Amino acid sequence: MAQLSDDCFAFGGPMLSVDEAVGIIAAKVTAVQEMEAVPLVAADGRILARDVAAPLPLPPFTNSAVDGYAVHGGDLPRKNEKAFPVKGRAQAGAAAQAAKPGEAVRIFTGAPMPENTDTVFMQEDVRLDERGQVVLPAGLKAGANVRSAGEDIPQGHVALKAGQRLRPQDVALAAAFGLTQFDVVRRIRVAVFSTGDELASPGTQRAAAQLFDSNRFMLIAMLRRLGCEVSDLGILRDERGPLAAALKRVAGAHDLILTTGGVSTGEEDHVKAGVESVGRLVLWRMAIKPGRPVAMGIIAGTPFIGLPGNPVASFVTFVHVVRPVVFALSGATPAPLVAMPVRAAFTYRKKGGRREYVRAALRKAADGALEAVKFPREGAGLLSSLVDTDGLVELAESVTTVEPGETVGFLGYANLM
Ligand code: AMP
Ligand code: MG
Repeated sequence: MAQLSDDCFAFGGPMLSVDEAVGIIAAKVTAVQEMEAVPLVAADGRILARDVAAPLPLPPFTNSAVDGYAVHGGDLPRKNEKAFPVKGRAQAGAAAQAAKPGEAVRIFTGAPMPENTDTVFMQEDVRLDERGQVVLPAGLKAGANVRSAGEDIPQGHVALKAGQRLRPQDVALAAAFGLTQFDVVRRIRVAVFSTGDELASPGTQRAAAQLFDSNRFMLIAMLRRLGCEVSDLGILRDERGPLAAALKRVAGAHDLILTTGGVSTGEEDHVKAGVESVGRLVLWRMAIKPGRPVAMGIIAGTPFIGLPGNPVASFVTFVHVVRPVVFALSGATPAPLVAMPVRAAFTYRKKGGRREYVRAALRKAADGALEAVKFPREGAGLLSSLVDTDGLVELAESVTTVEPGETVGFLGYANLM
């Protein structure tokens, strides 16, 4: 599964901006080619593998948009109201009889327009006279209150594009076309390891100097939200040989190998050396905070990403490195992450030249505006800072200060995965 070209690693350790990193990933990762058919009910979140063209127009036939009375546009009262005999009844789900000139047809929402009619008066706008005729007011335009065949989507129009991530409304559209399944890109297979002697798996005995492994569960959940099939491979100890062997062993059966921890340059950070012994590796020094170096590599043709161990750094770099790799592997054209403008309710100082993400909760201010409230502490190890907030305020490379009342861009967590 060689999904990554080798020259991706032709550069050493320069500081990469977030956009440069994402650009390199998009250009260098090759999409998997296999696709599979999935029924509509299983399609949400999957990446569409082929364009879907409308096999029929929507709506499929011209019909009434309201409950009322259908008439021929040529008969419309121009100056004064006019009474029409009511002949026939057109209900949703049934073909209606043709109308004669000068007649009105009682019609209901969704019913096909009877032949010779093209305009519908809303029932609220008419009255019935003593003879049982319907009295229609003057002033309605011909064609009013009618939904024409194909006005939503004409037949043959490419309504869904290969590479898009299917949403509930996209599934609805396929159903409206009468389709029963989609061709989607097969799920991206990701092997996930945590690394570190200090980690114990929840459910096992934790030594006094250990903490429970939390990143693995966060990353697996994020990957699943991105539609990946995840192999949870547990914890690797800080020991180069076994670590390298484990990475090599899983390369063939996965499209991506993801680890967390051990990618700093400390003596006990063995991921770097481990990957180098079975593949190629560069440390990406991304100009991003939080987020220490991210390791990128290739092991037997399979891309490797080593995220930092601190939970918040792991989370933020996942969004900027793993997410684009998963989309690139899927051949997806994801909607760009567009930060929503909100009002800052905090003061902040940062270095220019790097992108920063500030964990923040949203609240509605007294004047109704949405405000971002910064989490009071900044450590990259604080899981509570992710749990007690709603998203990340994105501060561009050029920004050095934020003052209360300024507009900042906010990325809600739900949009990041
Ligand atoms: P490292 O990147 O390996 O130097 O790890 C930095 C810090 O992140 C460690 O000291 C741990 O406190 C924390 N950490 C590393 N891996 C995990 C993990 N899987 N779950 C939770 N915290 C972790
Ligand atoms: Mg470690």
